[in-house]
Amino acid sequence: MSHHHAPPGLGEPEFFAHERAVASVPGAPEAVPLHLNGVLLPDGEVRDLWVVDGLLRSEPVAGAVTVCRGAWIMPGLVDAHCHVGLGAQGAVPVDVAEQQALTDRDAGTLLIRDAGSPVDTHWIDDRDDLPRIIRAGRHIARPKRYIRNYAEEVDPDELVAEVERQARRGDGWVKLVGDWIDRDAGDLAPLWPADIAAAAIERAHELGARVTAHCFGEESVHELVRAGIDGIEHGTGLDDTTIALMAERGVALVPTLVNLENFPGFADAGEARFPAYATHMRALHARRLATIGAAIEAGVPVFAGTDAGGTIQHGLVGTEIGLLARLGGTGFALGAASWRAREWLGAPPVEDGVWADLVVYASDPRVDVEVTRHPSLVVLRGRVVHRS
Ligand SMILES: [Zn+2]
Repeated sequence: MSHHHAPPGLGEPEFFAHERAVASVPGAPEAVPLHLNGVLLPDGEVRDLWVVDGLLRSEPVAGAVTVCRGAWIMPGLVDAHCHVGLGAQGAVPVDVAEQQALTDRDAGTLLIRDAGSPVDTHWIDDRDDLPRIIRAGRHIARPKRYIRNYAEEVDPDELVAEVERQARRGDGWVKLVGDWIDRDAGDLAPLWPADIAAAAIERAHELGARVTAHCFGEESVHELVRAGIDGIEHGTGLDDTTIALMAERGVALVPTLVNLENFPGFADAGEARFPAYATHMRALHARRLATIGAAIEAGVPVFAGTDAGGTIQHGLVGTEIGLLARLGGTGFALGAASWRAREWLGAPPVEDGVWADLVVYASDPRVDVEVTRHPSLVVLRGRVVHRS
């Protein structure tokens, strides 16, 4: 056992490396029981936790290896809008998808809601060292109405049938592209007639799946919330009446603040051919903090998602937490990326006998969420899979 730094003063967090407690590769030796001591969030109580066979225990376990004392412990982070298996040009090879998942894991993301991937990543479910994933199948869009190679592209009369296919392909979510640039109109426009979207959402619900949609502009989010959708991605076109309706119905919002920073770049890229679109994107960007802030204020359930995959790098959940904290405070942002998001997606809370998926920090993230960019320990299924 070795200290990572000089003997700390009273109350300083300590981390202990132990080769038998670390298993970052598949096929590693059986994990030894672990012991963690620190302030457990969200409760804020000093706790001792033991881990054996991948599960948490609140009673001491013989032979447990202490991996931290006086640290800050949170339920594993959630990236609620992430794409594993997707690169800038579309589908990526298995080794690239694996690296994406590892990058997210090492940032503390232990549960991903995959918001659409062109490849089947169910092989990840057999890997103890990779995050848990809840999938939305593949994005559903119309021909030439989304990024090339990303989506299953169908005309509106095929939407219901495609939703059935993707509901079966996913793990309880379906992802629609709600709006995108319409080249004839030269601006954002909804992809789906509202009545067809409503029928597709109803069919998904019959199959036990929830539906979410990419919405940048005003019209699509207005229509899809009224059509009974379960979630909205980005949501920059929200107004007060739709925000009120989302709050009332508990419709989730994953704003992907990391991605909203790219709107001026999207506007610049479209400027020459689509000046109205460019102006629109800049306006949505200019009021994004007011829009998302109003949704938080109104009680819409807002969760952390980075939109990693495609052109956005993986592992940015700490950056998203930092942006959310500016809008809703640190406790809100941490819950949006951890305990509240886990509860929303059906993951268990930190208690006896459940998943030992934890992320551990060297300082209090409620004081400064920036520490969430640098987890000291990541424990997945009862093993230390990452330390820094
Ligand atoms: Zn996305």
